[in-house]
Amino acid sequence: MNKLSGKTALVTGSSRGIGRAMALGLAREGALVAVHYGHDEQAAKETVALIEKDGGQAFPVGAQLGTPGAIDQLFAGLEAGLREHTGHTVLDILVNNAAATTTGGTPEEIPAEQLDQIFEVNAKAPFLIVQRALDLIPDGGRIVNISSAVTRKAIPTQVVYAMSKGAIDQLTLHFARHLADRRITVNSVLPGATDNGSAVFQIPEVRESMSQISAFKRLGEPEEVADVVVFLATEQARWITGASLDATGGSLLG
Ligand code: NAP
Repeated sequence: MNKLSGKTALVTGSSRGIGRAMALGLAREGALVAVHYGHDEQAAKETVALIEKDGGQAFPVGAQLGTPGAIDQLFAGLEAGLREHTGHTVLDILVNNAAATTTGGTPEEIPAEQLDQIFEVNAKAPFLIVQRALDLIPDGGRIVNISSAVTRKAIPTQVVYAMSKGAIDQLTLHFARHLADRRITVNSVLPGATDNGSAVFQIPEVRESMSQISAFKRLGEPEEVADVVVFLATEQARWITGASLDATGGSLLG
């Protein structure tokens, strides 16, 4: 028996990268997965196809977070997909994974518009998604918020992104308390430098310098973060809530 048979899940930003690995991992344990994407529908369909090839069940849902009407669009697509596949709209597992990243630059150079955009996608959207999902999540459900190791280690060029991820950790802390009487667990997972397949991770010098961050002296693989998320979604993790799980390969050991 798979650990998540009969469960349903939404993974935001699972068209590629770590989110795709999470969607595949949850589906492998038997969950029906809503594969959310922002602009790349084709990539989301590829994630769905990979899950189906693996014998799992999934459907794509599009919504460009941080744009007007995105939350309504996300939930309309989610509820329609759940209804079509299960006959109901119960959502057992919510993973807030989608995030925008900054291009870097010194803190002095960051324009206010970038601050707004990053907070819209990385902090405000996850809050609104949790708020809205609470009507669909049953007692004993799971919420996992994807944070980052930059909330624990100073990287000045990443200050805005780190601030938005700090907000995600607060979302975890306060909702964990708020939802405990419904046995809904809420946790953060902190990835470190993880090869999400993007071009930057294919540059040898970048790979080499980022590998040095981990105690294991290599980049993380998306599956290594996804396995932690899948664990948190299972019954075995019922006694963990309000926690921040380090999935950085020992990047914060000092
Ligand atoms: P990624 O490869 O850049 O993928 C990002 C995903 O989020 C894509 O599916 C993308 O969909 C979606 N997305 C981005 N902006 C969106 C928006 N405005 N609206 C809707 N969807 C949006 O990311 P990743 O590296 O796998 O990261 C996954 C999570 O881990 C993120 O929360 C990230 O902050 C965190 N993290 C990653 C690393 C790392 O080294 N990779 C390190 C620490 C933390 P579309 O392409 O369709 O827009």
